[in-house]
Amino acid sequence: MKIVRVDCGLQSSKRTKPVTCIVCHHTVTRTPEATQRVLRARGVSTHYEVGPDGSVYEYLDPATRVAWHARAWNSVSVGVDLTGPPGRTDCDPVMPYPEMQVAAFAALVRDLARRFGIPVEPVTVRAWKRDPILMNAYLQIVPHSAIQRGKVDPSDWRLDGTAWDTVLRPAILRE
Ligand SMILES: [Zn+2]
Repeated sequence: MKIVRVDCGLQSSKRTKPVTCIVCHHTVTRTPEATQRVLRARGVSTHYEVGPDGSVYEYLDPATRVAWHARAWNSVSVGVDLTGPPGRTDCDPVMPYPEMQVAAFAALVRDLARRFGIPVEPVTVRAWKRDPILMNAYLQIVPHSAIQRGKVDPSDWRLDGTAWDTVLRPAILRE
């Protein structure tokens, strides 16, 4: 997988704890360039963004920098964003993210899991919310919606969180 490293001046802090968790998001922007501007303006960040065409961008090195994307989980997690605007008009209801984007996302997540020794067994939103041991273990691949109240990402144009269980999680498991 080709990863394009982009130093776009995002906020971060020094990594001091081991990475035990991958937190997945979608962006509210339509292009990685727009994402970079919005992240900078908001003073937040993520490690990776996967564009609609399957391009993978690394904004921060997950081994040495903590990105600011999931509050209490920042210090132990890697952030992966799908460029995925709610309300996109070119999606179909079955596959809201382009196949190339989903495939690149799944490959990236699996690579990161291998690299940091995280089990490749992404939890369902329901399992995570029901199981206090999982919630406290931090040893998983999770959608942002599972760990932070009020978040629905990564989702699709329906914004109901189902894209994780129906499309993204199966893609990670299938890889
Ligand atoms: Zn998020």
